[in-house]
Amino acid sequence: MTVHQGLNFVGGAWVPASSGATFRRRNPADPGDVVGEFPESSGADAGAAVAGAVEGAALWGAAPAEKRADVLEAAARWLEERADRLVAELVREEGKTRAEAAMEISRTPRNLRFYAAEAHRITGQSHPAADGGIVYTRREPVGVVGAITPWNFPLNIPSRKIGPALAAGNAVVFKPSPVTPLLAQRLVEALLAGGLPPLAIALVHGGADAGAAVAADERVGAVTFTGSTRAGRAVHAAVGPTRRAQLEMGGKNPVVVLDDADLERAAQLIVKGAFGLSGQACTGTSRVIAHEAVHDELLGRVARAAEALVVGDGRRDGVDMGPLAADFQLEKFLGYVRIGEEEGARLVTGGRRLSGAGYGGGYFVRPAVFDGVTPRMRIAREEIFGPVLAFQRASGFDEAIELANGTPYGLSAGIVTRDLDRALEFARRCESGLVKVNQPTSGMAMTVPFGGLKESSTQTFKEQAGPSMMLFYTQEKSVYISPR
Ligand code: NAD
Repeated sequence: MTVHQGLNFVGGAWVPASSGATFRRRNPADPGDVVGEFPESSGADAGAAVAGAVEGAALWGAAPAEKRADVLEAAARWLEERADRLVAELVREEGKTRAEAAMEISRTPRNLRFYAAEAHRITGQSHPAADGGIVYTRREPVGVVGAITPWNFPLNIPSRKIGPALAAGNAVVFKPSPVTPLLAQRLVEALLAGGLPPLAIALVHGGADAGAAVAADERVGAVTFTGSTRAGRAVHAAVGPTRRAQLEMGGKNPVVVLDDADLERAAQLIVKGAFGLSGQACTGTSRVIAHEAVHDELLGRVARAAEALVVGDGRRDGVDMGPLAADFQLEKFLGYVRIGEEEGARLVTGGRRLSGAGYGGGYFVRPAVFDGVTPRMRIAREEIFGPVLAFQRASGFDEAIELANGTPYGLSAGIVTRDLDRALEFARRCESGLVKVNQPTSGMAMTVPFGGLKESSTQTFKEQAGPSMMLFYTQEKSVYISPR
């Protein structure tokens, strides 16, 4: 298999890290397979990337909306024309199944097209003035945007940041996750092939140090970050009060199942939400809060469905769940299974690494389902970001809502019921940015504002779509004009 030789894109050129340091990314289904070698960037590399982007912002900010839209459209086409290759690369690099990878690869160009249209919709307001003149507002690009992203959607999440940032006329310094550097590089290649002026985009591979340097650089006017709450806090502190930050972070997403629920449907959407993407979706289901009248039957159905999932290399047909994305993800999964058992929760199924024929040294696990989880347990409160599902028992609707709200997070929350009144009351009372009724907690529409509450988000600007998204990437001036 090809070992890709990745590079940074700094000052309009593909370059190694200034120190020459590199890191290797391995296929999580077969860690002997080296996907590629990429620059391990330092603060100096990030600084050089920002310097180039400052020049790029002046160029790109002057480009007309038609040109900005054309570039994003052309980048979308480039990705679509290479969809098969990109799906294979995504499966190999991140460990997604082919179906999961195909979903991501099809969404990213659609995102870029959506934001291409936004380039045309940047408008201001005009106000009458007492002296017969006019006051108007104009929206301008912020300048340089820093985009720091996680690995679980290595094209899709960056496209939701870089797409609107470029549509608004900013230059972008992109610091992707070191877990998925190849796919990040593909997105930059698509934008360049689409005609983006080279200085308008920079790519800085590497880990937390490179990200921290981008966030701390005063020349970066806005930082958009998606990742863990821990890293998000550090980014927020680095950005400080005079620049802007948009942070989307972790979750501990519950599904409440009421006593009138269709239990077959509930089990299906819980298993999809909990174990899709190998449990590595920010909006994935990590807790089930079941009414005591249906708890035992639901638990049995979910456990059986979890046991029926085919775990294996995403390249193989018929696989439902690929490996965990990295060795640190495997360690975290096994660590939390141990914590759950030590805390006194009952491991109903799964929770073990898979090895032997067909698994090699890959990071394959059987999805874990715990019962008897109480609110104080760590597996009920902390984000695991892996296929671990905690069952909690509720005696009624009010207790179910209290349990659902009983974590520091507030990203996505679901309810399964036939009772519309209760569903709407849940939507009012639950403390989460996304509410799903009879749907998995994961999954969302591209045209809808996205973001969490509580420790899942800064709540400064909603991502993805909606009025606040383009506000984040533009700054506003009020211009006063008097007649002569
Ligand atoms: P992470 O926080 O470890 O890393 C995210 C990015 O931040 C990476 O590029 C990383 O290199 C960088 N980074 C880490 N420390 C930094 C620092 N101090 N300063 C600047 N940059 C830093 O997260 P991850 O493991 O890549 O992704 C998983 C996490 O992302 C989970 O917590 C998940 O819930 C979250 N996530 C959230 C959403 C959402 O929309 N809310 C979506 C996807 C993933």
